[in-house]
Amino acid sequence: MTQPSPHGLHHVTAIASDPQRTVDFYQGVLGLRLVKQTVNFDAPDTYHLYFGDEGGSPGTILTFFPAPGAPQGRHGAGQATTTGLAVPSGALGWWDERLRGLGVDVLAREQRDDEDVLALADPDGLRVELVASERGDAPPPWPDGPVPGEAAIRGLAHVTLTEHRLEPTAEHLTDRLGFTLVGERGDRVRFATGSGQAGQRVDVVVSPGAPKGLVAAGTVHHVAWRAPERATQERWRAALAEAGVDATPVVDRQYFTSIYFREPGGALFEIATDPPGFTTDETVATLGSGLRLPPWLEPHRERIAASLPELRLAGDAGADAVAAEEVSR
Ligand code: ZN
Repeated sequence: MTQPSPHGLHHVTAIASDPQRTVDFYQGVLGLRLVKQTVNFDAPDTYHLYFGDEGGSPGTILTFFPAPGAPQGRHGAGQATTTGLAVPSGALGWWDERLRGLGVDVLAREQRDDEDVLALADPDGLRVELVASERGDAPPPWPDGPVPGEAAIRGLAHVTLTEHRLEPTAEHLTDRLGFTLVGERGDRVRFATGSGQAGQRVDVVVSPGAPKGLVAAGTVHHVAWRAPERATQERWRAALAEAGVDATPVVDRQYFTSIYFREPGGALFEIATDPPGFTTDETVATLGSGLRLPPWLEPHRERIAASLPELRLAGDAGADAVAAEEVSR
């Protein structure tokens, strides 16, 4: 059977501990758009917040399960430990200044082969990298966001997996998922799919002595790869089963359908379809403006809404900070 391969990252999902702080950071500071307020379909008393570009295009999406009071996770092996976001070449100086000015934990700025990278931690300690790397397929930036278009984040660039051993994960990526090994530098090995541009890459960092990762606040829950439509996803599931990889049945996630499985190191992978997308239950203009529930949870809306803290949509964090300063004078 021909092995389908993904045409890139679809989304990355992480755990957070405070819904409002998550909106303030990802929309207000990083300038992603909150494109969907919904709940964790498997635990509807918890939000599931999706951030992305203006229209919520696959490949631009970072999602969070913000569970108030969630314990802190541990970065480690068998986990996606860093999420890379693409920004235009030459924008990192602007970002460095903006982030430091807003008190964000900037960890490092480094040159990695031909990539300039600015590493930071979100308020829960999740590691994010801004990568100066053009994405040929990047949709135009969100015009109403707090970040000027010439610096705006243009979607996912890559994820980094930390692993005790390279071989099992490398074999899974190449033989099961159709990735190609495209580069090696020290303990970092890069794999790519499609044309290998930003959004189509995964790095594996080998760290034999790393503690085992613990998924909780400040860590990635899973990484989703793109399938163009449901038929490809079904073919992919069959091919994985034939190769001995135990994937879940297809699950309806309202905005895409999903299958889940673990790579040999332990990180949870998902294959998600591009359709129907985030405009299936609201227009581009209103994306993210109110709580959306799938049909099977709609009858419980009142109870669900009552269990969730109210969210204030973030404006420009910089402007907010200025306003706060003026107020305090
Ligand atoms: Zn997912």
